[in-house]
Amino acid sequence: MNILSFDSLIGQDKAKKLLKNAVTNHKISHAYLFKGPTGVGKKSLAKIFAAYINCSSPIAKTGPCNNCPSCRKFQTDNHPDFIIIEPDGVSIKISQVRELKHSLNFPPYEAAYRVVLLPDIQAMRREAANSLLKTLEEPPPNTILILCADEASNILPTINSRCQIIPFFPLPYEQVAQLLAQDGISPVEADTLAAISEGSIGRARLLASNELLSLRREIIENLLQTNLNNPESTEIVIALAEKSGKLKEDLSELLDLLKIWLRDLVVTVNARPDKTLSRDLASALQFAKNRWTLPEIYHRLEQIDRAKRQLNRNCNRGLICEVLFFALL
Ligand SMILES: [Zn+2]
Repeated sequence: MNILSFDSLIGQDKAKKLLKNAVTNHKISHAYLFKGPTGVGKKSLAKIFAAYINCSSPIAKTGPCNNCPSCRKFQTDNHPDFIIIEPDGVSIKISQVRELKHSLNFPPYEAAYRVVLLPDIQAMRREAANSLLKTLEEPPPNTILILCADEASNILPTINSRCQIIPFFPLPYEQVAQLLAQDGISPVEADTLAAISEGSIGRARLLASNELLSLRREIIENLLQTNLNNPESTEIVIALAEKSGKLKEDLSELLDLLKIWLRDLVVTVNARPDKTLSRDLASALQFAKNRWTLPEIYHRLEQIDRAKRQLNRNCNRGLICEVLFFALL
């Protein structure tokens, strides 16, 4: 059973305090913008808050009681007045906003507060965002909108100004590593994921689940061993490029991981190995640190950026990887 409690969410003390105070002081806003890095608890806190303000026996410290009929519906994601608008494909379309506005014309089914959660407003097309403005300014009675965003810069100022902003922050490194260890991830991998994900448990878990971390380790270790005069050795590079080319949206993420490793190599060359993020590749970093000069490392970083640009232009993914991997040797 999914227990909803302010205490069950790691960190975000400021956001929790602002939301709890709003309830205590009877100053619940009609529109909130949860702003901060991805994967740090915005969506989870929105649900806890929605359950809290609808709970029949709320507990000031921990939030929802988890026992009343309303809480039980939130626990099983079955509350009819908790509406989540996810992107349809890559974006939130104007038709989705129109449909939402239509449904908001009717009173809530049973809740004291109907809560509409838009967990990814960067995915909202401009016309869809504009269509939402009037509702944001003046939502129907007993309706609260919660918008979540990663990057402040991408949000229309007209949306920003209509919402109360609740800030979210990266989680401390130790907490991320601890949570990953609880997931059953090995200490060295948890350590690496915590460092690479920069305080986002969501991103760390995503990297752990899609095995990108181990693929990038395989690529780096093999590239360091490749001997261009040995056909078997070049075959391995080609096979790895083919495997990488089959990744869909994760390929860009893989290229970012390779960049992190090269940046770590710069840090290692500059004799600051304690500052590296690729902790699981410490020995490969030591092995490679005399391999290239700094300009040669930067040149390789540029090659990855070039590959990323080609990726955005929908070039052949396998070929992009093959050209890149040979350029990284
Ligand atoms: Zn309750």
